[in-house]
Amino acid sequence: MKGLPLLSACLALSACATAKTSTGDAKGEVDAPASVKLYAMDCGRVQASDYGSMADDGSMNGVGGEGINPCYLIRHPKGDLLWDTGFSEAIADMPGGLRPQGAPMRFEMPRKLTVQLAELGLAPADIDYLSFSHMHFDHAGNANLFASAKWIVDADEYASAFSETAHRRGEVTHYSALEHVKPVLMEGDAPYDVFGDGSVSIHQAPGHTPGHTVLLLKTAKSGAVLLTGDLWPLGASRERSLVPIYNSDREQTLESMRRVEALAKDSGARVIQQHVLAHFTALPAFPAPLE
Ligand SMILES: [Zn+2]
Repeated sequence: MKGLPLLSACLALSACATAKTSTGDAKGEVDAPASVKLYAMDCGRVQASDYGSMADDGSMNGVGGEGINPCYLIRHPKGDLLWDTGFSEAIADMPGGLRPQGAPMRFEMPRKLTVQLAELGLAPADIDYLSFSHMHFDHAGNANLFASAKWIVDADEYASAFSETAHRRGEVTHYSALEHVKPVLMEGDAPYDVFGDGSVSIHQAPGHTPGHTVLLLKTAKSGAVLLTGDLWPLGASRERSLVPIYNSDREQTLESMRRVEALAKDSGARVIQQHVLAHFTALPAFPAPLE
């Protein structure tokens, strides 16, 4: 699979709720939060025999496990937002999945993202907004299918994603269609209010990558939910503040952990560690939404 050189980086799978927010609502209206629905889709599985790279203190050396690689669809009266796109659908067509050379893990994709979206009557071109926790291949694997959506991305992540180094390593391949779209760049520290009503906001949490982000949504019946990308890739990551060896900045990672913990506390949010299987299976089984 093209783009796998990035495996050396993401190999093991791997706050600020201030009043001031930038807004994606063209009219600038601020309504009461509208009802939003969260659909959790299975966009891949990881079978790992050694999660050693997930902790730079060595505490995960030789420890294996199973991880989930989800995609999230957020449906709002003003549009549909896709948060992370999982592994490339090409993996779904590989018998037995993909075992990257030299990596202590195997990737599987039981169901294609496009097949799951079709269950809701959606084609890729129907997706209005696109955002990723970060641009590693396991999160942006199908990015090229969604180039018609409005892409919301942290400015530092954007610069890193299309840097000379990223090009040289072939990392750009799985999101190359986004290189020539005009993104909505998140600059500064303010969270980005996607629909302009405070119901869905994207917050900077750098350190795993230069512009890693997390997403906070507020549902009518189930309260607030925080989708935390790869801030804490394993269950133990949050308990012990584990920092993967391949993160872009250790101190920034620890500061982001503190800020996101504060955001979770202030919002009363349920924290979803995206690769933690138990967090995924605790959500309504697709196609049922959390609402
Ligand atoms: Zn990941």
